[in-house]
Amino acid sequence: MARKIFIAGNWKMNKTVAEAAELLAGLKASAGRIGNVDVAVCPPYTTLAGAVAALKDTPIMVGAQNVHWAASGAYTGEVSAAMLKELAVDCVIIGHSERRQYFGETDATVNQRTKAALAAGLLPIVCVGETLAEREAGKTEQVVKTQTEAGLAGLDPAQAAIVTIAYEPVWAIGTGKTATPQMAQDVHAFLRGVLAGMFGAETAGKIRIQYGGSMKPDNAAELLAQPDIDGGLIGGASLKAEDFLAIVTSA
Ligand code: PEP
Repeated sequence: MARKIFIAGNWKMNKTVAEAAELLAGLKASAGRIGNVDVAVCPPYTTLAGAVAALKDTPIMVGAQNVHWAASGAYTGEVSAAMLKELAVDCVIIGHSERRQYFGETDATVNQRTKAALAAGLLPIVCVGETLAEREAGKTEQVVKTQTEAGLAGLDPAQAAIVTIAYEPVWAIGTGKTATPQMAQDVHAFLRGVLAGMFGAETAGKIRIQYGGSMKPDNAAELLAQPDIDGGLIGGASLKAEDFLAIVTSA
C-alpha cells in the first residue's frame, strides 16, 4: 500500500502576524517545487487566517496546533473544530508532547480532540512518543502503544485511515538529537502493528506515521527512506522557508 508522504511544519509559539508574512511569502514563492507530497504548515491561531489567505493558490495546507472537543461553551482559551473549519483550516496537531508536558494533556483528552476533529472534517495529526527516561527504562513500545490505543480509541477503520500519527521521541524534540533512521523505523513498524491490532492490517497500511524530532534538510532523506516513515513533523526547521522546502523536496 503506497502512502503519500506528508510533511507538516509545527511553528509552535513563534512568528507574530507581521513576522509570518515573510515566511509565508517564501513558502508561496517556492510552492511550485512541491512534487507528489502532502505539505502543511501549522502556525499559531493568530496567523491561521493569514496563512490560509497567503497559501490559497498553493498546494500547501494549513493546520492548527490544537482543537477543543466541545462545539462551543465555557472553555476559556480554547478553540473549537468549527472555528477552525470556518477559517478553512485543513488539519490539526493533537497531543503534542509540549501540550502533554506543560498543559496537562492526557490520552483521554487527545481522544476527545481527535474525535471532534474528525467529526468536523479536519485531518488530525496525533502525536505520540517516549521521554528519555522511558526509553532508557526500556518502556518505549509500552508508552507509544498506550498513547496510540487510548488516543484513537473508539474510531472506526474509515476514521482511523484519515488520521496521521506523529512519532516524536520527546528526547529528540528541539534538542538536535535525532533518532537514527533504524531506531525510528523500529518504532514506526511497531506502531503499524499496534494499528493493525486495532483496525486491521488493511487500514494500518493506509495510516501515515510521521517522524518528528530534529528532522532537518541533512537528515530527512535518510529518515524518509525507511519503509514505515511516511513523512515528518518539523519544528525548528519549519521556521525557515528554505529549510522546510528542502525537507519537502528531499521526500
Ligand atoms: C516538534 O515539536 O514537533 C518537533 C519535531 O520539533 P523539532 O523539529 O524542533 O525537534
